[in-house]
Amino acid sequence: MGSEADNHGWAVHKFGGTSVADADCFRRVSALLHSQESPRLAVVVSAMGGMTNALLELIGQAERSNSAIGAGIDAIRQRYSSTVDELISSATDRAPLLEAFERELGETSDILNAIALVRSAAQRSRDVVAGYGELWSTRLLAAYLTQEAGDDPGKRAVSWIDARKVLVVEPGELGPAVLWERSTALADEHFPATDKCIVVITGFIASDADGLQTTLGRNGSDYSASIMGALLNASDITIWTDVGGVMSADPNRVSEAAVIEQLTYNEAMELAYFGAKVIHPQTMSPAVERGIPIFIKNTFEPGAPGSKVSAIASNGHAIKGITTVENVALVNLEGTGMIGVPGTADRLFGALRSANISVILISQASSEHSICFAVPGRMADEVETVVRRAFAMELDQNQIQRVEIRRDCSIIAVVGDGMAGMPGIASRFLGTLGNAGINVRAIAQGSSERNISAVIDGDAATRALRAAHAGFYLSTETVSLGLIGPGNVGSTLLAQMATQVARLKDTFNLDFRVRGIATSSRMVLADKSIDLQNWGSELEANGEPLDWDRFNAHVNAEHLPHAAIVDCTASNEVSDRYADWFTQGMHVVTANKKAQSGSLDYYDELLRTRRSNNTHFLYETSVGAGLPIIQTLRDLKETGDDILAIEGIFSGTLAYLFNVFDGSTPFSSIVREARDSGYTEPDPRDDLSGMDVARKLIILARELGLRLELDDIEIESLVPKELHASSIDEFLGELSNYDDAMLNRYKKARDSNEVLRYVGSLNKDGKATVRLESLPAEHSFAHINLTDNIVRFVSGRYSDNPLVVQGPGAGPAVTAAGVFADLLRLARYLGAPG
Ligand code: ADP
Ligand code: ASP
Ligand code: MG
Repeated sequence: MGSEADNHGWAVHKFGGTSVADADCFRRVSALLHSQESPRLAVVVSAMGGMTNALLELIGQAERSNSAIGAGIDAIRQRYSSTVDELISSATDRAPLLEAFERELGETSDILNAIALVRSAAQRSRDVVAGYGELWSTRLLAAYLTQEAGDDPGKRAVSWIDARKVLVVEPGELGPAVLWERSTALADEHFPATDKCIVVITGFIASDADGLQTTLGRNGSDYSASIMGALLNASDITIWTDVGGVMSADPNRVSEAAVIEQLTYNEAMELAYFGAKVIHPQTMSPAVERGIPIFIKNTFEPGAPGSKVSAIASNGHAIKGITTVENVALVNLEGTGMIGVPGTADRLFGALRSANISVILISQASSEHSICFAVPGRMADEVETVVRRAFAMELDQNQIQRVEIRRDCSIIAVVGDGMAGMPGIASRFLGTLGNAGINVRAIAQGSSERNISAVIDGDAATRALRAAHAGFYLSTETVSLGLIGPGNVGSTLLAQMATQVARLKDTFNLDFRVRGIATSSRMVLADKSIDLQNWGSELEANGEPLDWDRFNAHVNAEHLPHAAIVDCTASNEVSDRYADWFTQGMHVVTANKKAQSGSLDYYDELLRTRRSNNTHFLYETSVGAGLPIIQTLRDLKETGDDILAIEGIFSGTLAYLFNVFDGSTPFSSIVREARDSGYTEPDPRDDLSGMDVARKLIILARELGLRLELDDIEIESLVPKELHASSIDEFLGELSNYDDAMLNRYKKARDSNEVLRYVGSLNKDGKATVRLESLPAEHSFAHINLTDNIVRFVSGRYSDNPLVVQGPGAGPAVTAAGVFADLLRLARYLGAPG
């Protein structure tokens, strides 16, 4: 901060209520001021934090009755006098402070009693009572600064100014407007001419043209500071508060919000207008006209750089910040009679203006068929009356059909100078809100293109704020995950994620948080994320009986923008819940085939609920594990290729059995060995029946748009009918009775230079078979590695030479990696960079 002589050496510092909340705060402020370089400091101070609220609350009480006023007055006396006692050591210095305080507290009581008598407070009484807090805090600060300066000749002389003696304002369209000439003359008169000084000034209060007390509105001390900056032609204005600066979003609601180092007056003004309480919207104009930079800094961390607000644009993010205005009502005026009738909007807003109702946002359909605008929620009733009165005739004659008021809404606004002329911001904004399942009721774009604002339901505001904040990469894209089935695939996925989460955060701004893990009977939930390295012990130590309602509610936390379920089971019980999860707005990523290959009714319901809730359903690993089979099929289809047929070996187990079977060892022995080595399901009939292959074929068929059920597939089961009901051991024993038949098929194939392969095929007409086929030795299915899957797509483009996808089609590592890839795909759909 400079201290140039041509600026007369004045620097303005403003301390908000949070910076002077208690004795420690005063000590901090004093140390901070005494260490400033500028020779002349004008220090504008708010009331002690919460004091203005307490005073206004007393007015409210007086309007209701006067019974509780005494207690409120006592609490204020107790708070102030104990702070004085703590800070000011000499009784002689304390006396005048406490005397003035008692006198003004007495006046406050008198005013409150008068209000209690008539049960209604005039604006002027309100202004007077609300303004005492600034008088008390500034007198105390001035006394304390004087005490701390002591006799040190190096320290600046301290004085105190009551802003009502200097600052004269009159009511204006946009709030109080300064009478500059009068105020400048008064400032010349009251500010000391000494070279080195600290002048403490009351924030918030001022006089009107008649010399009576008024205020600059709630949070008005910021405005006081910039007016003082202008009156004194200060080199800079520093607003000291309890956060690090103007932040990319309200830090109470978005924990990842970051300090914006540099922003323009316009950006700061838009952010303030749309609810960033850290700075008052009117603060800007006096500073802008004189080009005085405004710094926002943290009293509790004075060394940090803070934010600089000036005319200079920074070349960082196009979007600087995102804010919300709470508790607004959306009014919609609709009528065919408005089309082409000039002046409807003028009349509407004229009527609102005469009733002193400020409109926060307007959005007019270009058809002129409706006008939609937002007003502060507390004014909703009044607005309805005003509008109905203004258009009584049109309503009567049905030219205006509807005046609709939607309460409990919020406005969310994205702000940044860099948005102007940059295409795609609005669609990105609305897309992010859509992805987070947030319904937009109205949108408006400032003609400056410096902000886009959307009206949404009030209870979605925090979620919207976080989603948009992440959507513009101001913070990470957070996805809350609930993993079900930490078995082979699930636990491998957790291990893979453990090694990648940090990198994903750094490189892609992507924050996957596994906030719930469920087994078939137990679950563990974590607020931030379950420790992926130690999830097993967390499940053991903090696990509880599985409760789906709690699991869902926890994973789908209101404060996180996105939530997804990861199903690593093979269970119907889990897949039956997908529709429910979609309805709750959660995405589903699954390695489980059951839902996609189950009844068409349920499948249709899934697609319907998925779509209507704007959620995603990803299941690449349900066919061919990590191999890109479903994605390949979709790419072909979406680019307009005509898929004629799909065929393949879709079972690693069956691929293995027939790769190994060469007639030398009986087929039943190969099955037994494969089971012993873990290549088959515990009951090998699950593989040999062909049902698993049929399910995969169904999934592919439905991707193609064929409406097939399992019954429509011709399946050749390799489990003899007689052995369906026997135990596993009996089955393995008795299978040898069928070895000869299998050997005969093998020999027959070999004699025609062919091999046996268990193949699933599907054509575009819906014919689907799963069976043991004899294929020429040069067929691509004849030469695959032991447990590989292989799939051939025959299409219009790939006709003579089909497209083949081949590779390991089973195993925890590749399946888990496939699920992980689906999760990353989901994140990209949700807006993460990729
Ligand atoms: P003071 O008492 O210093 O005037 P305020 O409470 O009026 O402080 O304003 C600071 C508060 O504004 C912060 O503590 C923070 O909770 C809130 N706030 C809301 N939006 C923002 C934002 N975009 N950047 C910084 N602070 C914000
Ligand atoms: N004390 C006043 C208020 O609480 C003004 C301010 O703090 O800026 O609104
Ligand atoms: Mg403030």
